[in-house]
Amino acid sequence: MNQATCIVCGNKQDLKFELRHNVYHCSVCDLYSSDADFDLSFRSSLEEDSREIGLKQLRLHNFQLIIKELKDNYFKNEAAISGLEIGSGNGWWLEVCKANGIDCMGIEPETTFTPYYKQNNLKVVHGFYPDVAKDSSAGYDFIIFNDVFEHITDLESLLLSIKRDLKKDGVLIVNIPMSNGFFYRVAKALYYLKVKSYLERLWQFSFHSPHINYFNPVNLTAYFDKYGFRLLKDFRLETLDFSSIKERILADNQISKAKAFAISNALMLLKPVIKNTEADIRVFFFRQ
Ligand SMILES: [Zn+2]
Repeated sequence: MNQATCIVCGNKQDLKFELRHNVYHCSVCDLYSSDADFDLSFRSSLEEDSREIGLKQLRLHNFQLIIKELKDNYFKNEAAISGLEIGSGNGWWLEVCKANGIDCMGIEPETTFTPYYKQNNLKVVHGFYPDVAKDSSAGYDFIIFNDVFEHITDLESLLLSIKRDLKKDGVLIVNIPMSNGFFYRVAKALYYLKVKSYLERLWQFSFHSPHINYFNPVNLTAYFDKYGFRLLKDFRLETLDFSSIKERILADNQISKAKAFAISNALMLLKPVIKNTEADIRVFFFRQ
């Protein structure tokens, strides 16, 4: 297959990168899409433990920023806020909600973190959304995707279900990696220098749940607009905690230890550049 159809603008996407899966690009709206699929065996080459060391502090900080935005601007006078997280993974978002008195339910198809949910009294239903949703027949005040939206194949039926499950004045939150960020740009440049592994890594093609789309702020907003969601606000989230960068890169067992140290040293040097270019991850708030 040499072409695909862009889900944002309907134009043809041309084959752009040949990796483990093909990546197609729309020259009109700049959307990148892969022909990868979700591997239901859930086998992954990632070492969960070392990933956790590098990421947790940073993630919790980002989640606090999202909660502050919800409380300050959208649910200022609400006594109780009810939320749904699609794809709860390690449960960190649910933990932060709990600590902030927000009632959020999670849906997660994997069972890796089930014992952790139980230990921490987190409300998580096992399965895929929307098959196992419905906790609140009145609808949710918010629905959130934390690094999940870019992994989903059938976005159309997903968004139609969300329109039904979100309250009319509810907020849809999407926390997602961006194709105009520093790392994606570097990975693209390296690809043309015949180094494909960085782009392969960003698309997570070695993991059981690879990326299906790589959006930028403009085409993501245009895509939600097609389904009647208007953008309230979006802002940058940080991807790198410079204090734990080595552990995080070492967690990737596709990279040799020596190379991991070299990369982490290079990133430390590039810190001012990374902080001053377009964000690698942004969070978007929409209302229908
Ligand atoms: Zn397009």
